[in-house]
Amino acid sequence: MAEFALIDLIRERCDATRADVRLGIGDDAALLAVPPGRLLAISTDTLVAGVHFSNDTAARDIGWKALAVNLSDLAAMGAEPAWATLALTLPSADARWVEEFADGFAELARRHRVALVGGDTTQGPLSITVTIHGFVPESAALTRAGAQAGDGVYVTSTLGDAAAGLRLSVPSLAKGGSKALNFFLPPHAGGGAEGGRGQLLERLHRPTPRIAQGLLLRGRATACIDVSDGLAADLRHICTASGVGAQIDADALPASPELIAAFGTDERRALQLAGGDDYELCFTVPEALVPELLRDLADSCCAATRIGRIVAGSGVSVRDAQGNPVELPKSGWEHFA
Ligand code: ADP
Ligand code: MG
Repeated sequence: MAEFALIDLIRERCDATRADVRLGIGDDAALLAVPPGRLLAISTDTLVAGVHFSNDTAARDIGWKALAVNLSDLAAMGAEPAWATLALTLPSADARWVEEFADGFAELARRHRVALVGGDTTQGPLSITVTIHGFVPESAALTRAGAQAGDGVYVTSTLGDAAAGLRLSVPSLAKGGSKALNFFLPPHAGGGAEGGRGQLLERLHRPTPRIAQGLLLRGRATACIDVSDGLAADLRHICTASGVGAQIDADALPASPELIAAFGTDERRALQLAGGDDYELCFTVPEALVPELLRDLADSCCAATRIGRIVAGSGVSVRDAQGNPVELPKSGWEHFA
């Protein structure tokens, strides 16, 4: 199948339309109308086979996740998504794979009214780059800077499931030059995980971008980031950008029943603090704004949990509920590290 036939397969499946798309796929560039009074929020993320996902990952899940990780960045800015472009590098013109990939992408795109407006299709090792475009009112964007000593630190939903799913899914991924290989814990014995394994894998392959929650944080959170590399590493970015420190209570980290059933306390904590791929929002809020915000978040079907506080100083420190220091696992995925 030729390049243009593949592009047609993608276009047919990604059928979300928007009035602000004056010209979409098919010309040399898309023409898009930004609403008056809005800033354009733009973010790009790439998924590389063997680094961000294992080679046996379903095409449909890769399509979902390629868009989800980008939407998550918009959520962390408090932006509302609108348009995406897709740069797809494929080893071969596998129509079946492209159809399934596009179906997974389109499923999530429809939920957020994201129109696919262009891209590029090339041959090479499997790699997917999505650029997402969204809107945020002037001065309303959430950034990593702005956390103040005294703010509470919160996280949406639960942490650690995606990293747990990765650990349970692929003993084979525990070796080889991949993102997973660099994982910080010895191979998991696998006991006790059977019942919840599907749920943990779902969190790994189909992260839920917290768009609605990001919108609720506007005007309330002082800083926000999405947890892609691991809570400790990502919260450290907030601390650096804001010129503050953070104290985290390891026993307050929200965990799913499946995670609790599958791992002992130490391993669970390590997954929650240093495991990536959760795509939850970590944010800071002045105490006075907390009660109403937590109510609104709970009403949005994605409750948030207080996990610590912002203090003067720098860096992230972790203690348990008794006040004993918890050592941070070697945390945060970094390419080239
Ligand atoms: P050009 O050669 O002018 O760069 P292309 O031949 O690469 O254009 O692409 C033709 C049209 O198809 C363009 O509108 C481009 O944005 C779109 N397109 C190409 N690949 C993709 C893709 N993977 N997903 C969505 N649109 C794509
Ligand atoms: Mg081109």
